[in-house]
Amino acid sequence: MTQTLPPGSKIGIIGNGQLGQMMAIAATQLGYFCHVYAPNQSGPANVVAAKSFVGAYDDGEKLKEFAASVDVITYEFENIPAAPLVEIAKRVAVYPPPQALNVAQDRLTEKNYASDLKIRPAPFRPVSSLRELSYALLELGIPSILKQRTQGYDGRGQMVVKKATDSHLAEIWSELSCKEAILEGMVKFEHEFSVLAVRDIKGQFLTWDIPANTHNNGILDHSVVPANDFILQQADAAIKATQRIADSLNYVGVLAVEFFATQFGPIFNEMAPRVHNSGHWTIEGAETSQFENHIRAVCGLPLGSTALTAERVEMKNLIGAQVNTWEKILSRRNNYLHVYGKGTAKPGRKMGHVTKLIKRII
Ligand code: AMP
Repeated sequence: MTQTLPPGSKIGIIGNGQLGQMMAIAATQLGYFCHVYAPNQSGPANVVAAKSFVGAYDDGEKLKEFAASVDVITYEFENIPAAPLVEIAKRVAVYPPPQALNVAQDRLTEKNYASDLKIRPAPFRPVSSLRELSYALLELGIPSILKQRTQGYDGRGQMVVKKATDSHLAEIWSELSCKEAILEGMVKFEHEFSVLAVRDIKGQFLTWDIPANTHNNGILDHSVVPANDFILQQADAAIKATQRIADSLNYVGVLAVEFFATQFGPIFNEMAPRVHNSGHWTIEGAETSQFENHIRAVCGLPLGSTALTAERVEMKNLIGAQVNTWEKILSRRNNYLHVYGKGTAKPGRKMGHVTKLIKRII
């Protein structure tokens, strides 16, 4: 599809979390109507959707019904089966292309894909048995990280292998309880950062300023822009790597690629074929947010400027009970509070975020 979808068109969003919510808010502002598809209708995106569809992510028939109600389909998370989307893509455009899902939802495929494009990932070995785990550990050393190949997110589905003893390995293997895993060598990184990029239907490729990201227990805690000099020295290589990924997939929409900044240059960690938590700061911190540019890209509109609106932008995730500090956050100037409306503030659950602009430029 190369045609422009004008305001008034209907955008299908698969997934009903906060990413879908922020996408739908951006789309609604531009005059689009969002139909949200998910296994329940109690997610943050349902609150702002024009229409909600309930169905399993692998229910081809229900997805077809949903597809018939919209002009384009996008998604807000990568752990949805690609096969039904490939079917649907024959009738209605699906952006980013479902092949991006195939790559991103399996850590082994993802790392091989990056390697084929001459992008360096952490050293890795596929592991599908306890025996293979102990062999892989001999090559990658202690500590290493054992990760599920699929369905892991926010640090879930991964464990650090700290000792090479048979009992420790057996314990970790049974606790991870998956058949297909990947063992990764532990990267000695100075910092973590991500490249947030958007590519449109004609192949125009833009990036936002690079955020430095800090994780706690595998969950993003905060992002800061601009990143420090150590990261910025590696930015060019990381942006070029991201563009190679985007071009090779004929990608449309926002793509986020996470890297470790090491003394040997950027090491690819993982990619997300969607808007990304480390880009939430762009809502107030950039002239056009990742959410709006994603919508613009999938609707065939011209992309907006990604320039900063302040000299420094900080985004802090509000995880679990941290969301209860909303009153204090609101009492300070230049703080922008986002609460996703998720109900119970369970530990580890992303409940909202706050973005702070320091020294506004515009
Ligand atoms: P992931 O879900 O793979 O992004 O992992 C979550 C977090 O765990 C990352 O953001 C890093 O902080 C840490 N991590 C994951 N893989 C590695 C690795 N190979 N070496 C060092 N740290 C890692």
